This record gives sequence, structure tokens and C-alpha cells, in this order.
Amino acid sequence: MIVAPQKREADSIFYELTRSICPTCRAVIDAQILLRDGKVYMRKRCVDHGWFEGLIYSDAMLYANSLRYNKPGTIPLAFSTEVKAGCPYDCGLCPEHKQHACLGIIEVNTGCNLACPVCFADAGEGYNLTVDDVERMLDQFVECEGEGEVIQFSGGEPTIHPEILTMLRAAKRRPIKYVMLNTNGLRIARDERFVAQLAEVGPTIYLQFDGLLAETLIRLRGRDLVDEKRRALDRLGQAGLKAILVAAIERGVNEHEVGPLVRFALGHPAVRGITFQPVTHVARHLPFNPMERITIPDVIRAIEKQTDGLFVQQDFVPVPCCFPTCSSVTYAYVDGGRVTPLPRLLDVQAHLDYITNRTVPELSTRVRKALEGLWSASAIPGTERAADQFSCASCGLDLGPQATDLADRIFMITIKDFMDAYTFNVKSLMKCCVEVLVPDGRMIPFCAYNTVVYREQVRAQLSARGRR
Ligand code: SF4
Ligand code: SF4
Ligand code: SF4
Repeated sequence: MIVAPQKREADSIFYELTRSICPTCRAVIDAQILLRDGKVYMRKRCVDHGWFEGLIYSDAMLYANSLRYNKPGTIPLAFSTEVKAGCPYDCGLCPEHKQHACLGIIEVNTGCNLACPVCFADAGEGYNLTVDDVERMLDQFVECEGEGEVIQFSGGEPTIHPEILTMLRAAKRRPIKYVMLNTNGLRIARDERFVAQLAEVGPTIYLQFDGLLAETLIRLRGRDLVDEKRRALDRLGQAGLKAILVAAIERGVNEHEVGPLVRFALGHPAVRGITFQPVTHVARHLPFNPMERITIPDVIRAIEKQTDGLFVQQDFVPVPCCFPTCSSVTYAYVDGGRVTPLPRLLDVQAHLDYITNRTVPELSTRVRKALEGLWSASAIPGTERAADQFSCASCGLDLGPQATDLADRIFMITIKDFMDAYTFNVKSLMKCCVEVLVPDGRMIPFCAYNTVVYREQVRAQLSARGRR
């Protein structure tokens, strides 16, 4: 008897086809999204450089479920480019983009007072924007947005730009709801006068804060900065400025610091939230294995385990304004030692489910709007608006005695996974709501800016201008 050869089953489920880039030459290529062993991978082939595969989300069920939170985008008032070469070469924003800019980033310089081994901006020699540049960029932002949501000043290290206070004031003068300063904190720790001047302007401080251990800071930032970071935070508190901590998380470096960081952030009077960012493997980064990188579900699991369930996986809900796999968020009401995550009081997932709940009348539109405000890239904890939205969403719920200082009792945890050449997905990019503003008027989605060639092009142009 002839035994027929047996067919075998594929080791993964083919989930969808999208477009990405080659990690070697950055040509745009097709990419398959595969579900395997409960995780999500991107697999793709470049005709010149062969096959590539990388982990994009370590929980297939959460990935598939997150599509429920994909909300319709809001069309900006104006676009800066035309549709010509196709996505991602027409940034932007071009008329094919699916979302307005919740958050505009202005990188005022490329120089820095640190030389971190991990730096997606590849800080170093380059350019300083002028105040005129920034005024023009802000005007363009307002033209596209009407009333803008958030402007974040970044770099390089923006606090070493000699005109940074003037630039912050220029943003404050315009119809932009919130102004943020993204910093490593060194100048804040060292320059009391600068902190006093900052306090007069009043930006929310987005403070790089990767861990509480010297080893973490040495690996990621090149130096033990633990004391300086804490001093910076204390200075901000004394000056009445509010901070959101930003922790880059890398496999094998500081995953074990996630829980302690949450507890530290909850306990510091200047801190209103913490953002975890799996390290973006573009420009300067440590050696990494794309199949074992940290993704959003890994950070959530680490938070649950390392905080002994103070926050659990069900507390985190994908953010609907961008593509929902880009970011997950939770909020908690903090009353002394009592921490109550909002999703334990209210079914946030049901309210932000745009696929199944469109026609369920008992879900209040008012509550959904409030939750949309909180679950947005433009949400800033510590502000009156966040307090109002939280108060509306939690209306009638048992928070204990309602405080008059509600804005200071709301704590936010965000996890954002910016894309690199292994994870770059045009489908997510087209709904990006975080844009880098460029002096020529373009507003380029952040992950395209870092991963396609935009950052290098803009830097070369602006640096050459300085040499003329
Ligand atoms: S990412 Fe958006 S702005 Fe850029 S090319 Fe694609 S659709 Fe246009
Ligand atoms: S990561 Fe930030 S602080 Fe570090 S070198 Fe880059 S710009 Fe400077
Ligand atoms: S910056 Fe990247 S990760 Fe964030 S919303 Fe845009 S595409 Fe998604």
C-alpha cells in the first residue's frame, strides 16, 4: 500500500495583510499579520533583503478585541500636503489621513546635555529652531486644528535651547489647550531660577524617568541620574508644577521596575501620571531581539504582578482616537492610600466599544464623551478638564468623600508602543494622532517621522540652514 504524504497545518493564523517597511533599506513592502501561540507577529519580505519577522503584540486576544475601540476620526480643518506618492511618503497631513492631530510635537533642537545609549531622536549636533520658526509652526497647527489640543516641546533637550521660555509663551498665547515640556530634568534639577521662570509659564512637565535603580539609568542614559531625577521632581513640586513621568522600558533592563515606578509615581505630590514606552528601536538603542521585544500587554502584566493587583489587566482600555493597538490607558481616583481604578466603577469598555454599542440607548452619550476625552492622546492628568471628565464619568459612583482638589487626585497610566522598522504598520500610521511639526508647515505622524526617512531629511535641511 502506498502511504500518501500527510499535509500539515500552518503554525499560525493568517490574520490580515498590511504594508510596512524593510528594516534594512526601508522600502515599503507588504506585511502579513500572523497569530501564533497567543501572540501577534509581523512577517514580511523585501526583494533585496529577504524575510523579517517581529513580535508586535504579546496577546492575540487583546489585539483582536482592541478593534472594538476604533472610533471614527475627526477631519482637520486643513491639510499641509497632497496625495501623490502614497502613504507613508505624503506626510503630511495629506487628505488621506484618518485623524486630526491630538498632540503636536515641536523638536526645538537636536543638542542635548546627555548622550543616552537609548535615544530615538539621535540627539547631537544639528540645529536650533528660531522663535520665528516656532511661531510659524504654531500658527500652522492652529490653522489645521482651530482650537489645538496639546503642543509638546521636545528635542534633543528643549530646556537647553536659549529661547525655550519665549517659545513656551508663544504657545500659551495661542488657542491651544495645553502646553507641555518634554525633558530629561537635568536643568530643572540644577537651575532654580529656570524652574521659577517655568512656573510662571506653567507647562505640564513630561519628565524622562526610567527607573529608581542606578543600573537602569546607567544602561539607558549612560549615567547614574537617580538623585538628579528625584531632585528635579522635588523642585517641580516645590514650584507648583505638575509632572507626568515617562519611562522607557527595555527587555532585560528595567521590566522589574514597572511596579515600583507606579507606586513611586502615586506617592509623589508633583506626579499626576506615568507613561510607559517600550523602547523604540530606531536611531540609538541597545541590541535587541525583534521576536522578544516588550509590547503593551507585557507592560500591563508587569504592572498587575508588580503592584499585587493594585491595577489589573481589565483596568486598561485601548485608546480610541488613534489606532487602538497603539496605546492603552487607565485612570484611578487616589484618596490617601486608597486607589480606585475607574474601570472598576464603570464599564469603560462597554462605553468605548464603537462596534457593538452604537445602538444601546442606556449607555449615556455624556459619559461616553467624557470617557473619550480621558481616553485620548490629548488627555493631560492634573488639569481641570481631566477632572471634569472624570467627575462626569464617575457621576453617582462611590468615590468616598468628593474632594475639591479632584484634579490632583486623578492618576493616569498610559502605555504607548511607538513603531520601529520591525513593527511599522501603515494601517496604524494612517490614524496616528501624534504629529511632529516641521518649519515648512508639514505635520508628520510621529512613527513615520522616526521610521521612514523624514527625521533625517528634516534634520539635514535645518542643519544646513544653520551653516549658510
Ligand atoms: S501617514 Fe497619513 S499623512 Fe502620511 S502619507 Fe499616510 S495618510 Fe498621508
Ligand atoms: S534620550 Fe533625551 S536626554 Fe537622552 S540623549 Fe536623547 S534627547 Fe537627550
Ligand atoms: S505615534 Fe505611532 S504609536 Fe502613536 S498614535 Fe501615532 S502611529 Fe500610533
